[in-house]
Amino acid sequence: MPVPSDISRELAQLIEEEGAISIERFMGAANKHYYATRDAIGAAGDFITAPEVSQMFGEIVGLALADTWQRAGRPANAALVELGPGRGTLADDMLRAMKVAGLEPPLHFVETSPLLRDKQAELHPHATWHDTIQTLPTDRPLLIVANEFFDALPVHQLVMTFSGWRERVVRLGMDGFEPAPGEPTKYGEVPMHLRRADPGGIIESCPAARKLMRAIARRLHDQGGVLLVIDYGHYGGAHGDTLQAVHAHAYADPFARPGASDLTAHVDFSALAGSARAAGTHVAGPVEQGQWLVSLGLSDRAAILSRNAPRRAEEISEAYHRLTHPDEMGQLFKVMAVTGRSWPKPGGF
Ligand code: SAH
Repeated sequence: MPVPSDISRELAQLIEEEGAISIERFMGAANKHYYATRDAIGAAGDFITAPEVSQMFGEIVGLALADTWQRAGRPANAALVELGPGRGTLADDMLRAMKVAGLEPPLHFVETSPLLRDKQAELHPHATWHDTIQTLPTDRPLLIVANEFFDALPVHQLVMTFSGWRERVVRLGMDGFEPAPGEPTKYGEVPMHLRRADPGGIIESCPAARKLMRAIARRLHDQGGVLLVIDYGHYGGAHGDTLQAVHAHAYADPFARPGASDLTAHVDFSALAGSARAAGTHVAGPVEQGQWLVSLGLSDRAAILSRNAPRRAEEISEAYHRLTHPDEMGQLFKVMAVTGRSWPKPGGF
């Protein structure tokens, strides 16, 4: 029998003492433990992200930001901010590309994991770390990037039962943690057009993502700047349960090993766009990642890299395929931009 992690024991104890807990609380606690204790990203970890696939990804993102900054009049004090920087690879590739365009911004990381902060410090000893966006500088435009960050924020779920919509919770069953219907939802929590549904139907939302987007959009509105959200998810329409777990590059049961597998959910880009617009900022996209990268010159970049290192040509072509093909990361992953008043729209939309 696998040894339960500390967080498994903690969550089990909490449920025994207080009763079932919300999916949101379960996912939040599990992920906090997971990122704090596992170096999850890369071949030896649980999943690979676009910046770990190829340097080309970060270079294109960096050039897109530098180009927007240039068209905004090259404000001298602009800062680069990354939310959830993982191993620091994306920031490294972005900064190298930005430098060519004449931009060398101070670097701010929003990161809660002490383990990943140490990893990031190896590549970026002069960065400034923040637990939340609240402590980011308030006196300058912000160039913000969030790659595979919003998908890690905890989701809230409702489940339809024969007695109406109920909050979906996690309880302890015979075989460990399991999802179950909890208390009836409060009146008005379910949008009118979703009130009729078959039992088993699920509505998912991410209050933490919406709250964060509102706060970032207010900053961009007041300070100027741009946010690029790059993540997997959907735009428009109702979506059911998208909670998933990945462990050692394979899908796993989200309830089986809290804290030992990566729990994510699809990003609801329409909800994020709504929060950003409500705060007075402009939204562009989302567009599919493959299309965005190619329209910003990924093919040329791949050709140059292959010419300079012919022995790596095959690897570069594989990375290109992985980042852009509809069956890989090209279609499910999307890019959305949010810009402050009087800031130009980034390229690629
Ligand atoms: N952007 C990186 C890593 C993605 S993994 C890449 O593309 O490779 C998610 C990252 O977000 C990790 O660095 C994780 O520690 C961080 N993270 C997750 N939840 C967070 C939260 N609530 N606050 C700050 N950082 C968080």
